[in-house]
Amino acid sequence: MKLLDIIVPVYNEEACINKTIERLLKLKEAFKGKLNINYIFINDGSKDGTAKILEENAKKDKNIKVINFSRNFGHQMALSAGLDYSKGDYIAIIDADLQDPPELIYDMYEKSLEGYDIVYGKRLKRKKETVFKKLSAWGFYRVLKSMCNLDIPTDTGDFRFITKDVRKAFNKMREKHRFVRGMIPWLGFKSAPLPYIRDERIAGETKYPLSKMLKLAFDGIYSFSFKPINFIFILSAVTFFVSIIIAILGFFTEFEEEIIISFVLFLVGSINLLAIGILGQYIGRIYDETRNRPLYIIKNSINL
Ligand code: UDP
Ligand code: MG
Repeated sequence: MKLLDIIVPVYNEEACINKTIERLLKLKEAFKGKLNINYIFINDGSKDGTAKILEENAKKDKNIKVINFSRNFGHQMALSAGLDYSKGDYIAIIDADLQDPPELIYDMYEKSLEGYDIVYGKRLKRKKETVFKKLSAWGFYRVLKSMCNLDIPTDTGDFRFITKDVRKAFNKMREKHRFVRGMIPWLGFKSAPLPYIRDERIAGETKYPLSKMLKLAFDGIYSFSFKPINFIFILSAVTFFVSIIIAILGFFTEFEEEIIISFVLFLVGSINLLAIGILGQYIGRIYDETRNRPLYIIKNSINL
């Protein structure tokens, strides 16, 4: 029988993980006679009791596999490790907090049988998330879409179902700054959305504070677009014409010279810093690629 690997990144989820495992194990019933299931939990350096709970569950069920990272490497690295170690014919990626209903993995499988290599969960609605989170996510997906030449689906996270062909192609991409929800569409393949309503987290708090959200957003933009550099170019043209206009005005009118000079200095200074900052983002990424460090370090694994 063919194998389905369900990949679950986990970071400090002691409040949810038992319930999540319970609901994920129920999928064995749904897939009975169709697919065998392995569950790959990637413990991303949790500091709470997550590792212990995962170990206890893995002892009871050999289909539960655990990869323990040596520290917190981030959600995108945890997903990448899951995909590296997966041997399945099909792979599903799902969060550990039950915001994405596990039962939909079966619907994704059925959809994939219609001839799709990728079936991605498209969020129609997000239940009980903060207005800030909803607004920033809504804005981000649209800004990203307008900046990339690639068709990255909007309102789509990492909850998705893929075939092993997609996994194999994905695993060839070893870039250090990862935006998995953009990297998978980049691969091509036939894909289809599965619309769903995103539930609220069953317990605990988001493990995506603003700093991690921003990192993910920048990785998405800088890894998939050169538009920020084009933006500097356009900005330089704008400041050039603004300076000419100010110079002409200064020549023909009685402006306060100090005010004009300090305004121009501030303007040019801040635009220079912005340009250096944008270039720095690309250069830092080149530096990370040339150092070629491993994406993550595994401390140990269970049942793998
Ligand atoms: N996660 C992770 N490493 C991190 C942060 C999060 O593995 O550094 C996991 C987390 O345990 C969850 C998933 O990534 O399974 C998504 O995180 P979360 O639900 O906190 O994000 P949100 O849904 O609030 O965007
Ligand atoms: Mg969540």
